[in-house]
Amino acid sequence: MGWIKEKIYRFLELDKFVYDEIFISRSVIYRIIEFANSNYPKEFVAFLKGKILNKRLIINDLVYQHFKAGFHSASVNKQLPLGREIFGTIHSHPGYSNGPSYQDLLFFNDNGTLHLIICKPFNLNSIRAYNALGKEINFKVY
Ligand SMILES: [Zn+2]
Repeated sequence: MGWIKEKIYRFLELDKFVYDEIFISRSVIYRIIEFANSNYPKEFVAFLKGKILNKRLIINDLVYQHFKAGFHSASVNKQLPLGREIFGTIHSHPGYSNGPSYQDLLFFNDNGTLHLIICKPFNLNSIRAYNALGKEINFKVY
């Protein structure tokens, strides 16, 4: 990236979205699995907190909000705590599909650049990651 572009990115705080690799901490994965299980058969939604170090996005915390309604229903609160350390979202699907729904894609687009979906049976292998456009992306667990 050129110097000017980098400076503009920093000014607009877009630099926080520039990364090559994604790392998610093991404790975040465990908490995702725990929330998915404890909310089942309802869905849960949380926000992914982290930092960028050497072009690596490191997710090391969750911001959990308890929603009364299911994530896919119309009454979900869209006021999200998007701050400097929030990079995206995680939500659970009570079934066996972790593909994004149409509503998910609209939601992804507005809420950061990394979106996880966990489906049954709620383990590491049933978690998929997507970018803001709903394209599947890779992540590593550290
Ligand atoms: Zn969904």
